[in-house]
This record gives sequence, C-alpha cells and structure tokens, in this order.
Amino acid sequence: MLKWNFRKSVWGLSACAIVLSATVHAQLPTLGDTSDMTSSAERKLGERVARELYRDPDYIEDPVIDEYVHGIWQRLLAGARARGELTAELDERFAWRVLLGKDRTINAFAVPGGWLGLHLGLISATVNRDELASVLAHELSHVTQRHISRLMSQQSRQTPWIIGAMILGALAAGKNGDAGNAVMAGGQALAIQSQLNFSRDMEREADRIGFGVLTQAGFQPQGFISMFDKLQQASRLNDNGSFPYLRTHPMNTERIADMQARQQLAPRTSAAPDMVHAMMAGRARVLSNPGVDALRSYLTEAETAPAGGTRARQAGALYAAALAASRMRDPANAERLAARLAPVVAGDGEAVRLQTLLAAEIALAAGDDARAVALASAPRTARSELVFSSQARIHSGRAAEAASRLQTWVAEHPGDAQAWQLLAGAYGAQGQQLRAVRAEAEARAAYLDYPAALDRFKAAQALARKGAGSADHIEASIIDTRTRQMESLAREQALER
Ligand SMILES: [Zn+2]
Repeated sequence: MLKWNFRKSVWGLSACAIVLSATVHAQLPTLGDTSDMTSSAERKLGERVARELYRDPDYIEDPVIDEYVHGIWQRLLAGARARGELTAELDERFAWRVLLGKDRTINAFAVPGGWLGLHLGLISATVNRDELASVLAHELSHVTQRHISRLMSQQSRQTPWIIGAMILGALAAGKNGDAGNAVMAGGQALAIQSQLNFSRDMEREADRIGFGVLTQAGFQPQGFISMFDKLQQASRLNDNGSFPYLRTHPMNTERIADMQARQQLAPRTSAAPDMVHAMMAGRARVLSNPGVDALRSYLTEAETAPAGGTRARQAGALYAAALAASRMRDPANAERLAARLAPVVAGDGEAVRLQTLLAAEIALAAGDDARAVALASAPRTARSELVFSSQARIHSGRAAEAASRLQTWVAEHPGDAQAWQLLAGAYGAQGQQLRAVRAEAEARAAYLDYPAALDRFKAAQALARKGAGSADHIEASIIDTRTRQMESLAREQALER
C-alpha cells in the first residue's frame, strides 16, 4: 500500500503539484459526486500539507527574503482582487502565504488552501522582480481559478488523510529530481507524478490570468516573457535536474503560441536588471549554497567582477560576498565588502536599506550587538529590522526592550511564528517562564502543529497553577482560553485521519 517516508524532504516537489494517484483511484468506488471541493475543505487539506512543509528541514525562515517575496506577493494579490480573480470568500478563507525552501533547483508550487512553496533557486535564477512575479502570478492563478479544487473533487470519496499523504509523497518524490525511488515504495513515483499535473487547459488559463494579474499589479509584462524564454531554453537543453518546474510546465506548442501573441502586447526587450532584486538573488545563492567552497566562490566573484558591469550586478556580487564572508566567520572582510557596497547602492532607498540590514546582520554574527541594534533600529515597523534587533537585544541583556517591541508586533501579527519564537526567547532571558511557555505554544500553533501547541499550553496551565507568575492573572486566563481552542483544533485534526 502507501508507504511513503514523509520525513524525507518534501520541498522538491513538482510545481503545481496536486496528487491524484491513479492506482489508488482505481480501487475506489466512483460515485457520482462531481461537485468541487469546498474552500474550507481545501483549506483544511492545505493545513495538513503546510504543517509538513513547516517541519521539513529544507524549510527556511529568512526575514529579509521573506519580506521581499511578501511584498511582491501582496502586490499580486491586490492585482488579483482588482481584476475580480480573487473572490472575497477565498481571500478570507485561504492562507495566502509563500513558504521558502532552501533548495537550489528552480521551482515554485501551489498547495491547496492558498499556500505557495518557492525554492531559493528560483529567486537566484531570475534577473528582476518582474520575472519572479510572473511565476508567482501563474501559481496564484491556479489557486484563484480553483484548479486544485477541481482536481481534488475527483478524490472526494477519499479521506483527507489519504489525499494529504499522496500530496506529501509526491512532494518528496520530486526532491532534486531523482529521490523518488528512495521515497516511494512499489515504484509508484512515476504513476503519481503523471497524475500530478494540471491539464494543459489549466496551464494555459494560469498563464493567461497570471499575465493579467502581473500587469495589473504594475510589474513589467516583459518579465513574463523573459521568464518563459528562460524556461524554454532550459527545456531545449533538457535540463530537468535543476528545473523541476519544467516537469510540470512543459513548454508545449499551445503555451508557446499564446506567449507569442502576448509579445505583441509587450515587445521583447532584454530583461532590465534590478539592483534590489540582484541583492536578493545574491542572498538566495548564499543561503542555498552554505558549503565553504561555494561561499569562497562568491568572494572570488566579487573580487574579480569586471569594473564595467552594471551597478545591479556589482551590488549582487558584493552583497553575496559580504554575506558569504560573514557566514565564514570573517567579520572584518564582511564589513569591508559591505562598505564597498554602500557607494554602489547610494541613491536607491530600498537598496540602501538592504545594505544597512546586511551590515546589521554582519555585526550581529560578529557579536557586536550594540552596533547591530543601532543599524537595525529604524524604521521600527519593518519586520527584518525587528528580527535582527530583537536577536541582538536578547543576546546583550536588553531582553525587556525586545519583548516589548515583539509583543506589539504579535498583537498585530498573531500568525507570525518566528516572532513568537523570539518573544519566547526574550521572556525566557528575563526568567518569565509562564509567558515564555505560552509564546512557544503560540509559535507551534502558527506552524499549524496543534498537538504540540496543546502540550505547551497545558504545561503553561500547570505552571500557572503552581503559582509561576502569580500576579499574571490576565496571562493565565488567556492561556485557559487558548488551551480550549487548541483542544478543539487538535481534535478536529485527529478526526480527519
Ligand atoms: Zn502551472
């Protein structure tokens, strides 16, 4: 039967991966229910898959890239709303979150319920934000067009547990293009892969709607076309290993013809490099290639970069080199490279901010907490600054300051797991055990792991009864309420099995 090892990384999955196993399907009675899966059923199924993505060792939480991608994603969502592609119901019910995987391969995929997976490899392979946005807009359109629910409805007699298991199996099977045999028993990988894909019509629709959403959101339509060219080129080279995206997005003649028609709307020009994007692509390269040899190669690249290169290219190379030096525990060199980056980015506000954040990160890694806090102290409301300055404050005996800022943040962003985790650290450093355990519980809940969250809420209840933080009546009453909510969520999750 189905013996898939879910602890293997699930990040390598094919783009647009929706699993419908032909083998399993054939064993089921085909009853005449053809209605689409409801949005709440799809959301619940998505939670199951997203919970595994969060637990996966390849899942990466990087405040800087998260914020960058989030900005692009929010613009696309606004574009989809403006065009009426994103209904109020789905807007409200789905998660609409992009999760990063540190895989170097080029891939992005939609998960039921509005989660999207994005490999760092895809960020580093794009030259500007328009190209990256074009892939996200395509995946977004699969979700808004309910392509997932249409495929899932064919499995409506199947239990959510089995469907979730099939999706996760397929995700693991796609890992680096060849891990399928190791992951799946019974050689089902191929059978499942072939059932994963959206239909050709769905792909064309996602191209068409995605193109509209992209331009509505103010991105350059050339991004769609140059990304398409890039994929087509890789397709000709048969570069399937590093382009898992191509396995689910074959460059068939209809898609190419559609794209040629679109070129009349957006004449082909060479993709304009974008300095901020080049820096984020450099960051993605470093984070997805943490080996010493790769890190050294970024240093060499920055030292030997031709002086005549574009500013964007110089900025990308220097950013990657400075971060690589910091990761190699060479703060002096990292600082020197970051300082060389400053005049290159001068005049571009967003790029200057990224350079300052990089300097803060380098100071933090070097243990210079005061400098890290100073560099990351404005603007206060931005998330990356909050993350770096909180880490520096917690390290340097200023946990109370960190806690008060993080508390304000989580009040407005209760689903921010990383902020809750930092807050737990800030409370712990001040000996506020009850609050620390509750913050940890909230982080588990934000990662959708309700049983683990419930364990911690119960531990917090026990602490409260023993009198820890005895004056903390408000906290204790919040803990009671949240424990009951978590009991019900954990029960619901267990019932779905
Ligand atoms: Zn697609």
